[in-house]
Amino acid sequence: MNINKMKLMTQVIAISLLASSIAFAQSVTAVERKIADQIDRDRDAMIKMLEDSVNIDSPTEDIAGVKAVGKFFQKEFDALGMKTRWVDMPAAQKRAGHLIAETTGSKGKRILMIGHLDTVLKGERFRRDGDKVYGTGIADMKGGIVMLVFALKAMHAAGALKDSQITVLLTGDEEDNCEPVSICRGDMIEAAKRSDLVLSFEGTVNNTATVGRRGASSWTIEITSKTGHSSQIFKPAMGDGGIFEASRILNEFRTQLGGEQYLTFNPSLIVGGTTASAKNAEGTATGKTNVVAAKVVIDGDLRFISEAQKERARAKMREIVAKSLPGTSAKITFFDGIPAMTPIPGNYELLKQLDQVSRDLGLGPVEALDPGERGAGDIAFIAELLPGLDGIGIGGGGNTHARGEYASVADLTTLTKRSTILIYRLTR
Ligand SMILES: [Zn+2]
Repeated sequence: MNINKMKLMTQVIAISLLASSIAFAQSVTAVERKIADQIDRDRDAMIKMLEDSVNIDSPTEDIAGVKAVGKFFQKEFDALGMKTRWVDMPAAQKRAGHLIAETTGSKGKRILMIGHLDTVLKGERFRRDGDKVYGTGIADMKGGIVMLVFALKAMHAAGALKDSQITVLLTGDEEDNCEPVSICRGDMIEAAKRSDLVLSFEGTVNNTATVGRRGASSWTIEITSKTGHSSQIFKPAMGDGGIFEASRILNEFRTQLGGEQYLTFNPSLIVGGTTASAKNAEGTATGKTNVVAAKVVIDGDLRFISEAQKERARAKMREIVAKSLPGTSAKITFFDGIPAMTPIPGNYELLKQLDQVSRDLGLGPVEALDPGERGAGDIAFIAELLPGLDGIGIGGGGNTHARGEYASVADLTTLTKRSTILIYRLTR
């Protein structure tokens, strides 16, 4: 590049920087500016809180650990003058419970903010390598909780928490939710019913937010068949045998239901033979080559974007299962797991508002993450009750639910500013 060209480039850059700072000044109010500046000043404190919270092990089954990390965050909400309480789960549920922190008021929209204190694994301490930070649960999702805390801190510092109704609910068992939902998510459902919208701080994927998450459920097929000498297979008195019936069913599932958008079903375990049984993701079977298979058990999952899609798929699967081959009969049983967060228009409306905040801050557009890209999550338990947005937590996360989990602090403050100013605008 020659000098003249370089000069010209520098001028162009200077002009565009000037243009963007003018746009910024026009579209962000003085209070919003104050909130954003506070978050910039809090960067080191955020990283310190991230370190301290990651260093408290809190896998779902560790009741004392989950409670300890709950206490750690509870004092932060107490310091903001929020009303806080820890809700224990009944002993039978074998879960720690959850933390609730609230402000009351009547200004603007009533916001529910959710996250989870538990992690899948444990034992990896906080470690920083440049902008990359490591540790168990750092992306999923202690980083998101730290952002949520500092969002409220910045609002508080700007005097913007007054007179609005914000409810924070941090569950202790998102990664392995207890049953029944009425007990384990009762408080969340109750909080959703007295809120206008929900924001969930699970990790951000690139420059997106999550407007939909697929639900997860499971099923089991049990096939019984006439059995006897293998030379008699396909004859009217013997029929086709259990294993051919299993392959018919699975192949029809694949050809009739495969490829539907957002719908997946994965047979994960199959056992068949003269005897066959499966329990807790383990199976045993016996069978001789000269005997027609008498029994088959198949386990699988079913993921879906709406209750309607789930029910449609189940009806079709029942229909396929019922068309038994000669000499066989089959039964399918469905089990409910986590519902779907269906991408309703209200969710897109919130995304539009987040996108506007992002543009106003000079951070560019925010797009919807493909709902097929995200697994089930806590927000789905209340997604039918109110509009919501998920995936606005820490960025750059990788390898979650595995060793070597990491997140990025490069955009920690910009992502926090974006969510905080959205909350600010919603509560005006
Ligand atoms: Zn999570």
